Amino acid sequence: MTTTTAIVTELEQALGPGRVLTGDAIGAKHHVDFSGEHACAPWAVVRPDSTEELATVMKRCHAAGQHVVIQGGMTGLAGGATPQPGELAVSMERMSGIEEIDSASMTATVLAATPLQTLQEAAAAAGFLFPLDLGARGSCTIGGNIATNAGGNQVIRFGMMRNLVLGLEAVLADGTVVSSMNRMLKNNAGYDLKQLFIGTEGTLGIVTRAVLRLYPKLPSKTAALCALGGFAEAVQLLQALQARLAGSLSAFEAMWESYFHCVVDNVEGTRSPFDERHPMYVLIETEGTDEAADRERLEAALEFALDEGIIVDAAVAHSERERESFWAIRDGIAEITPLLQPMLAFDVSMPIGQMPSFLARVDREFAAGFDRVQNHVFGHIGDNNLHLAVTTGREADIRRLSDIVYTATGAHQGSVSAEHGIGTLRRGYLHHSRTREEIELMRRLKTALDPKGILNPNRVVPD
Ligand code: FAD
Repeated sequence: MTTTTAIVTELEQALGPGRVLTGDAIGAKHHVDFSGEHACAPWAVVRPDSTEELATVMKRCHAAGQHVVIQGGMTGLAGGATPQPGELAVSMERMSGIEEIDSASMTATVLAATPLQTLQEAAAAAGFLFPLDLGARGSCTIGGNIATNAGGNQVIRFGMMRNLVLGLEAVLADGTVVSSMNRMLKNNAGYDLKQLFIGTEGTLGIVTRAVLRLYPKLPSKTAALCALGGFAEAVQLLQALQARLAGSLSAFEAMWESYFHCVVDNVEGTRSPFDERHPMYVLIETEGTDEAADRERLEAALEFALDEGIIVDAAVAHSERERESFWAIRDGIAEITPLLQPMLAFDVSMPIGQMPSFLARVDREFAAGFDRVQNHVFGHIGDNNLHLAVTTGREADIRRLSDIVYTATGAHQGSVSAEHGIGTLRRGYLHHSRTREEIELMRRLKTALDPKGILNPNRVVPD
């Protein structure tokens, strides 16, 4: 058996000095992802510079049967990039940069560790929009976004990361480089191999480069905050806006009463624009090219919703500051999270029609099982996503709370992960959303691409 010392020596020789970290040289950022759970130091961190170097690392690890964990920006919330005992971490951090922005084909070719925000800014400077957007934009990487099929704030209009990837290059567990850098929207020449690496959380290959879709820049943003009588009205509002805003609706963020008021009561600088409390609030955003016309169209749609009794009240943002103040309420989850610890953050999805019965069941079972429970719900309901921030104030209740939520999710034809992924933290719950045959096919794919099981092992697919 090859010793870890022998692997380190060989990789140092192949990659050069300073590229393999061991012992105290390994920074804490390599110990755990943003979930903060089960931190563990890898025994070494390897930092390749190029696809060729990464292929060399993987060939060596494959030959030695060495388990490897892939690390991007470490903002993942599923534990996937957190090392497990005995794993070697491959940090993608040196493989960052934009290779090309092609104006004619409206594509960007980027290296895997490029931060999302860097791409957004480069696209904007070239007169384009890269529409994936999420709170971790400054730290998360394009490779991580592809591996987790990230969602975020604008899915209702532009889709998830999967919809934005035209082609990619990946290194397989045995070091084989598969280059599938397609630039065309239409390409039915055989299997669409890139899909093997999108949303599979680094279990089937390591993404090294990608060709991504760009869109025309949309300089005007208009936002409104609406107060509603309940969930049924939120669904009616979504339908009314989709019909009346000619495809410009880019965000539809629903916030249930308890979430909204937990934020405005606790987060400095946030306040409700309404005098009274309401059962439901929705933050709407449209993006377009003509600010005055966009605002007029949004106001007309809201007037219709008021006249029809779909909404009770609405506040339209008249400045960038006001627009940001509405988003501060939606994004206030980051500020209330420390106040609610120990807190569980659920990220589930289901058909919209199932949401009321799901939420009623969960609240009923929480009330029956615990003396004191807070359940703060918000979500991008237009793309079927619900987030639940749940706490009883007791660490010991976490397992039972998870069982209630994920069992109810399965019973409502939902997914135990809408956008954050399965990683290690939700692996035990995958069966609530996937059939035995689906999970068996996942195992067959894993075995075919990684027969020794060395790449991101013990993640996503249950044993
Ligand atoms: P990491 O955390 O480093 O890794 C995530 C997974 O991908 C791991 O399994 C890792 O092994 C694998 N991986 C990383 N790089 C590669 C690669 N090059 N090739 C193959 N596998 C790789 N997610 C959403 O979907 N929507 C949101 O709205 C959202 N908001 C967030 C807000 C905040 C404040 C935070 C902290 C996180 C949020 N996330 C959200 C989760 C997270 O940002 C995304 O999952 C992101 O895509 C992870 O990218 P990363 O580079 O940090 O990946």
